[in-house]
Amino acid sequence: MTTTIDSTATERPHKAQKRYIYAWGDGAAEGNAQMRDLLGGKGAGLAEMTIAGLPTPPGFTITTEACNDYFANGEQLPGGLWDDVLEAVKEVERRTGKGFGDASNPLLVSVRSGAKFSMPGMMDTVLNLGLNGDTLHGLIALTNNERFGWDAYRRFIQMFGRIVMEVSGERFDHALEASKEAHGAKQDTDLDAAALRDLVDEFKAIVKADTGRDFPDDPYEQLDLAIKAVFASWFGKRARDYRKNQQIPDDLGTAVNVVTMVFGNMGDDSGTGVAFTRDPNTGAKVLFGEYLTNAQGEDVVAGIRTAPKIAQMQTDMPDVYAEFQRIGQQLETHYRDVQDLEFTIERGRLYMLQTRSAKRTAAAAVRIAADMVDEGVITKAEAIARIEPAHVDQLLRDTFDQGALKQATKIVNGLNASPGAAVGRAVFDADTAVEWVNNGEKVILVRIETSPDDFHGMAVAQGIITARGGATSHAAVVARQIGKPCVAGSADLAVDYAGKQAHCSVTGTEFKEGDWVSLDGSTGALYMGALPTVSARFEDQPELQKVLKWADEIRRMGVWTNADKPEEAAQARSYGAEGIGLCRTEHMFREGDRLEIVRGAILVANQATRAKAKEAAAETLSADELDSIATFDSAMAKLEQLQQGDFEGIFKAMDGLPVVIRLIDPPLHEFLPNLEDQLVKVTRAEATGGASEEDKQLLAAIKSMHEQNPMLGLRGCRLGLMIPDFVKIQTRAILNAQIAVRKAGGNPIAKIMIPLVGHVNELSRTREILEAEAKPIEDAAGVEVDYKFGTMIEVPRGALTADEIARDAAFFSFGTNDLTQMTFGYSRDDAEGGFLLKYVEDGILPVNPFQTLDDAVAGLMKVAVDKGRATRPELEIGICGEHGGDPASIMKCEKLGLDYVSCSPFRVPVARLAAAQAALTSAAERDK
Ligand code: ADP
Ligand code: MG
Ligand code: MG
Repeated sequence: MTTTIDSTATERPHKAQKRYIYAWGDGAAEGNAQMRDLLGGKGAGLAEMTIAGLPTPPGFTITTEACNDYFANGEQLPGGLWDDVLEAVKEVERRTGKGFGDASNPLLVSVRSGAKFSMPGMMDTVLNLGLNGDTLHGLIALTNNERFGWDAYRRFIQMFGRIVMEVSGERFDHALEASKEAHGAKQDTDLDAAALRDLVDEFKAIVKADTGRDFPDDPYEQLDLAIKAVFASWFGKRARDYRKNQQIPDDLGTAVNVVTMVFGNMGDDSGTGVAFTRDPNTGAKVLFGEYLTNAQGEDVVAGIRTAPKIAQMQTDMPDVYAEFQRIGQQLETHYRDVQDLEFTIERGRLYMLQTRSAKRTAAAAVRIAADMVDEGVITKAEAIARIEPAHVDQLLRDTFDQGALKQATKIVNGLNASPGAAVGRAVFDADTAVEWVNNGEKVILVRIETSPDDFHGMAVAQGIITARGGATSHAAVVARQIGKPCVAGSADLAVDYAGKQAHCSVTGTEFKEGDWVSLDGSTGALYMGALPTVSARFEDQPELQKVLKWADEIRRMGVWTNADKPEEAAQARSYGAEGIGLCRTEHMFREGDRLEIVRGAILVANQATRAKAKEAAAETLSADELDSIATFDSAMAKLEQLQQGDFEGIFKAMDGLPVVIRLIDPPLHEFLPNLEDQLVKVTRAEATGGASEEDKQLLAAIKSMHEQNPMLGLRGCRLGLMIPDFVKIQTRAILNAQIAVRKAGGNPIAKIMIPLVGHVNELSRTREILEAEAKPIEDAAGVEVDYKFGTMIEVPRGALTADEIARDAAFFSFGTNDLTQMTFGYSRDDAEGGFLLKYVEDGILPVNPFQTLDDAVAGLMKVAVDKGRATRPELEIGICGEHGGDPASIMKCEKLGLDYVSCSPFRVPVARLAAAQAALTSAAERDK
């Protein structure tokens, strides 16, 4: 079997059934950056760096496939693999001129895990593998550095013992600390060779005591055990938890990288470090990182000594620094993205050990994307694809003052379940939360876990922290939904409900009810005290605005907003909204003293409507009936006038942009007091001298309007058909507002939307009523009155008969809240506070369908789109349900061919990005 490697070789002889090994060295590699699936990120990066001519120590990767086959094989290496490993080791021996286990010139290696995605839950790296009593003396003789030799050996036993043999790491740490103390050494570098030799003996004794076996001396046995330990770590608890949290599939497997050791601990001309080609916090274009001289491996990350900033290297080793800077540049250009680099300097020689795309904060993501477009490195489309919608969301949430955060005392870490900064006084139950907030306090709700019973407290709290539960726990899901910062699953926080206090034994901190705490939902941390926050203003973020403008150039769908008030409309417009997709008129009914007027009208609505019908049939009316008409009409006239004012405000705020106004939608009882409350009030009053006529009337009205299933009852267009005056006055108010604004020189664009249509006749009848109302206004206007009638598609029957409905509608807007509710047969208000979250937690449903559009609901929408456009090709179609601001749902809307999405004002920036990403993805799929 030949073993010479040629850089162009695509084949490698192997004893195993499959080819499991890819090697690199001498400027050539068998793998490359495209092979991350098979080689993992680390292996692919090492291969690519080698091909690019960068200094890497030779080595080889055992593929992720070997890992999967190892498990398929009952945790046995696949047959022949070990022979192939031995062959690969021989190659490394040839390349380095050293021998594995050779006492006179030993080859040492590191064994490193490396999955496709960088995974903090995976096995730690074992360095200096191949050392034993014999090879150690060779190493010392070769380097003429006894201290270095013993330091390498004690590190090896420590790492191999902890990682591969599962000895508790603390035992080694204690021994090391004790040795430092005994020798008056401040740092590990102060220990001399003799001290380190003693430590080696001690470490070996610890291994023996803990595992009952001797530390393995045979380098090949060490290698075999280490490879298996890497494979085993793929299904370790930490790794599984991490994958679950990040939704990384279990069947990817991890690769194993065996890499020739280079030594950063050979003296002050050696060192090791970690650096980013740009600042991953701010995105600034400066080399950012830390390094340590005379150190190995993870010393920097582990904080063994305080590591100086990478800039210090410029003074210590100017030539190496210049070379590193050049390499950083080269890699960034090569990968066209910011890189996170690991390197080691052995006696003045630089070696690259890892490169990967850098994780970054939201601010950095946006700045880097914008800068790289300006630098001509990436296209606008690539910039858009790289920014996560969550980044945009985060940039619009308040944050803590960075300086204050550094000084702050941390109480505990948990999961960053819902971003944002929240400050308040700690309370331990929902009722107290509500009580305190009613007294003008700000609170943070602290719970072991939350349930639907805690909702009222969550709704009033500034933020929520729980000790238990993951990213899909009740607390996390609800917090995201209501836009509250949340830290979930802070396992180290011991919450004591009875004592109204909590403590964290890890940080040794505690707090009790009423103490101020600060919660950072973006990082998942809780701090003592009230930290100052920085409010996130869109206006202050020119880079974000710039990037979103590029998104606007790319996206096909419009981004509109759901806004009921002029201020909201103006806010959304400043965020880039191009129209209002849903203006809910009934919200205006609840403002201030209007509710009284509305109630006055509702009380006589049925009677007056009947009387009007009689009047129309030329029957004579009783005095009572005449009275009810008068009362009703006067209340309605007031409402009409108020609504006209509302609409004028909205038209002005959205001048030149479309405004879709939905006619009254909720059942009337929503404007009346609760039946039980009113019943109690009247009964009590009757018992003590008599209830007022007004209260009794109100009670009677509430009773008469009571329905078992109000959400399926008299609401939407059904209400308009039964009591037409509500929609009549709304139509008049809309048209008159439009005329007034146009006369004042504005450009109002009105679209009147009829909700809850399930049968075309509902729509055509409503339209007749409204057109009769509109006609005289149009005739008298003196200016052009331009408006369109359209409908919501939110009842399944409406979707299924969209071809008929489109005959009478100029536009459709999907009301996906109701459509989801009716498609699943779930009452949203009840389900979301109840079983639905459990469904998601237990995996019965993959996601909350009220958050992310369900495929079956999207299927109904598809039917409606196709049928609607078959009847009316120019039909304008949008979505105004909650889903309009959810990136995954926006993707589905793009595929459905909707014209626009409409969402709440603060989600408009996210939707602009997501719509652009959706357009890019669709284009890429079409090209395939
Ligand atoms: P992680 O996935 O945790 O980053 P790595 O496999 O990259 O783990 O190893 C951690 C550190 O160990 C690296 O940053 C590097 O400093 C050191 N290291 C790994 N392999 C070698 C090697 N062959 N020679 C010297 N140091 C190494
Ligand atoms: Mg690393
Ligand atoms: Mg609806």
